[in-house]
Amino acid sequence: MKISAIEPFVVSHKLQREFYFSQWRYDTRTICLVKITCDNGTFGWGEGYGPAEIVKAGIEFFRPLLIGHGPLETENLWQLMYLRSLDYARRGILLSALSAIDVALWDLKGKILGQPVSVLLGGRRRQSVRTYATGMYFTETESMPETLAAEALGYKEQGFDAMKMKVGLNVEKDIENVAAVRQAIGPGIDLMIDANHAYSLTEATKLARAVEPYRISWFEEPVSPEYYASYSQLRETTSIPIAGGECEYLRFGFLRLFQQQCVDIAQPDICAAGGLTEVKRIADMACTFGVDLVPHTWGTGIAASAALHLIANIDMPGSRLNEAEALMELDRTENPLRDELVQPALSPHNGRLQVPNEPGLGVNVDENALGGYSVQD
Ligand SMILES: [Mg+2]
Repeated sequence: MKISAIEPFVVSHKLQREFYFSQWRYDTRTICLVKITCDNGTFGWGEGYGPAEIVKAGIEFFRPLLIGHGPLETENLWQLMYLRSLDYARRGILLSALSAIDVALWDLKGKILGQPVSVLLGGRRRQSVRTYATGMYFTETESMPETLAAEALGYKEQGFDAMKMKVGLNVEKDIENVAAVRQAIGPGIDLMIDANHAYSLTEATKLARAVEPYRISWFEEPVSPEYYASYSQLRETTSIPIAGGECEYLRFGFLRLFQQQCVDIAQPDICAAGGLTEVKRIADMACTFGVDLVPHTWGTGIAASAALHLIANIDMPGSRLNEAEALMELDRTENPLRDELVQPALSPHNGRLQVPNEPGLGVNVDENALGGYSVQD
């Protein structure tokens, strides 16, 4: 059996309601998917995180390396792509293209062998995974605290007992927003904050200290991912656990994050940091350093399913009779690319997702709907 086709698709959806965070505004969701097909017709799907047209170009760059190879050799194919990109792209968007291909190869491998990806990764520690709702972005509204509090309450009513809100507008507004959300959801819900590296160390320290009374489960990307020392310094001055890594790549990048004791929670994006092959290695390394791992997940049901299978498999640093519970990010913002184009849509029950039993990732792109979302050249 040989790989016979690698096809990237850029899909897009114009949002009904624009939202924003500390770095830019979203009025459209655009994602690059990839379909890899074997000469017997079996296929797998992957996706890359980041600017879709550039991910597509990256997939086309790697394509000639892989055509004609056996599809089961995920590590060998990963190494072929890695060595072809190492001289130019030790981090960044070309690795999102590599990641997209790697995720598709794992889906394909599962379909060929008739096994779920989590089983092929080494087995399932968990049959279901607790998720947290990602939302509470900024919108144009008369009262930001009230709007965010109402959204948070909605997630609580849907059964989530953990959720994440954006900060990073300015410290004073952030404090007001966090207070309103905590007041609305009560004390029993885990609440995380994410600045998307909006702040200097001084600002991040000020915000962390001010929101400590609101029982914040982690402060994500407080400062620029380039400022490794600031991460570790912030960890010394706040009781809030520090999370980061969605802008980090490969095990080599995460090694630096761990050696410099930057984070309590590492957040590699499977569709950017090197695919399932590499993030499995990063997860093992995180556990070796005693760091928790909760992958960054943003995109379609392909990315979410890849995260679900990986989290079902990974080792956790905590070890006791009642094992520490793994956690998965579940974006709840408007996204039909996640909920309609990829089927079945992942729907949590009481905030938990069952790990699919179907071969591969357990989700597929609705190819009848693909044309409606495709961006043509
Ligand atoms: Mg984030």
